[in-house]
Amino acid sequence: MPKAKDCLFRIGYFLYTHTRFGRYYHGKDIQKARDKYDEDGHTVIEPTLFDKLEITPIPVALDNYAYIIMETESNTCVVIDVGDENAVIRFLDRMNVIPAAVLTTHKHWDHSAGNRGMRKRYPGLRVYGGYYDNVPDATNVLMDIETIKFGGLNFTAIHTPGHTTGHVSYFLDGKHLGAPDCLFSGDHLFLGGCGRMFEAPPAKMLKSLDMVGRLKRETLVWPGHEYALNNLEFACHIEPDNQHAREKLEWAKNKRQKRLKTCPSTVAEELLYNPFLRTSQASILKVVALTTEDEEEKLGPPSDETRALVLAELREQKDAFKYIQ
Ligand SMILES: [Zn+2]
Repeated sequence: MPKAKDCLFRIGYFLYTHTRFGRYYHGKDIQKARDKYDEDGHTVIEPTLFDKLEITPIPVALDNYAYIIMETESNTCVVIDVGDENAVIRFLDRMNVIPAAVLTTHKHWDHSAGNRGMRKRYPGLRVYGGYYDNVPDATNVLMDIETIKFGGLNFTAIHTPGHTTGHVSYFLDGKHLGAPDCLFSGDHLFLGGCGRMFEAPPAKMLKSLDMVGRLKRETLVWPGHEYALNNLEFACHIEPDNQHAREKLEWAKNKRQKRLKTCPSTVAEELLYNPFLRTSQASILKVVALTTEDEEEKLGPPSDETRALVLAELREQKDAFKYIQ
């Protein structure tokens, strides 16, 4: 990014994260979404059901998701990322449920602005957020890796710095719920993409992304935004011969034409088409001009330093990528 533009961006980012301007700006986005979609939101509400678990993505603002997670045996409910309390409370009221906690992935307003309203509506409600992120209206802070339990819901909060310093991804153990494990990845990992690296260098983000790659392949990924189309277009642009990316893009186009959700994907799928998880692949190294496929064969797998350079280059290309809707 040119220096003057970068400087302006930094000032804007500081104002967004440290002042009331950020909350105001987010409120404008909520209003825009209401004008565009009424109360229905950007995506049709459609719960995903398992044996003792029900996960409902709630559309918030223009493209965010909050998640309502219900353990159906003891009726325990936990909510992830309340960017707008009205959208969440409306649904909880309809279900006649009082949540046990709110888990916040990071401090950005589109993930946390509703924490205040939730605490007002449900006195005593616990609101969790990462220690390094100073999440608005949090009551409990989480360190690098912590286990938190609510009824039969067992979460591990994993510090995944990159998008913000204190970003947390929440891993839900599916074992006793008759469900696959789930990762609520906020703005760390999206379907086909990853978050912008606002507050940490690429090497740190790479480490956080490698954590995802070590999860069980069948783990479901529930991201903080509906960005599938944009991300998969970019994935196809970066790896035009990647059949998995092409097929997933066609599938996502079909879903979005009907305003249906594209989450969850799985870790196995993401490893096949998400360029940000594929920084060891010769096809990606070639695109970012760090090596040719022949050289790659000679040199063996790239070092973490090289992969961090690849990640930085990919991110830069993604930021400049023009997606035509
Ligand atoms: Zn964010």
